[in-house]
Amino acid sequence: MPRFFFETPPTNLLPGQEICLPDAVFHHAVRVRRLKSGDACTLFDGNGNAWRVTLTSIDKRRALARIESQLPPAPMPLFSVTLALAVTAVEPMDWALQKGTELGATAFLPFYSERSNVRLNDARQERRSEHWRAVIVSACEQCGQNHLPQLSPPQIFDDALKAAETASALRFFLDADAEQTLPAALHHARARTSLPTSVFLMVGPEGGFTSDEICAGHAAGWQAVRLGPRILRAETAAAAALTLVQAALGDLA
Ligand code: SAH
Repeated sequence: MPRFFFETPPTNLLPGQEICLPDAVFHHAVRVRRLKSGDACTLFDGNGNAWRVTLTSIDKRRALARIESQLPPAPMPLFSVTLALAVTAVEPMDWALQKGTELGATAFLPFYSERSNVRLNDARQERRSEHWRAVIVSACEQCGQNHLPQLSPPQIFDDALKAAETASALRFFLDADAEQTLPAALHHARARTSLPTSVFLMVGPEGGFTSDEICAGHAAGWQAVRLGPRILRAETAAAAALTLVQAALGDLA
């Protein structure tokens, strides 16, 4: 069943009601996916709500759809998982956002650190953020996620550290030279505390974190953790870390 993100649905959509598809959904469903009148699809609003609909009429510029039913609301995630990602080139970043969404990240926090080799000016940043959002939307469409992960505007490193200053958060920054492994840290965390309300995972740029950044991370209450003996690409580290967190505490368990 094709799924499309329906950003701002009218309130109180009821079965039997007919709606005009917003331009973005029309483009995607009719022009790209070539749905025809009579075809069924699912629309979701990114806040956990979704509807089964049937396309009833299509012309060159617009399509109407009938609401068949509202699907049961998607359960809220057990806790939030924020993936803080050093901004990288387009492809690895897209990969990390796509796989991160599939693996249940609830928020993405791009950041610039000292060794980030990508810096975007404001105009390019805006376009890139739109592109990142489209990657996240399309991953949600594909994987059945009805809660759209949040995407923050890129922060500088210190602000990314501060963004995690919430009570009962587990904060891990990934560093291949850390003493503790992520599975060991998760094991200790589980033994010590009940389920956290939020988990933050920070992945560095290809050049890694500087020692000053590692000190700042420790001072801000983040634990350095490693993922085995090999150096992973940042996007691989992000997906592996998220998988371990979800397996230890979340919905892969
Ligand atoms: N040259 C860098 C490697 C950076 S890899 C260095 O030696 O640190 C890019 C990012 O992926 C790193 O900043 C780190 O956050 C993460 N990463 C890669 N391999 C890792 C590992 N084995 N354990 C933990 N984090 C890792």
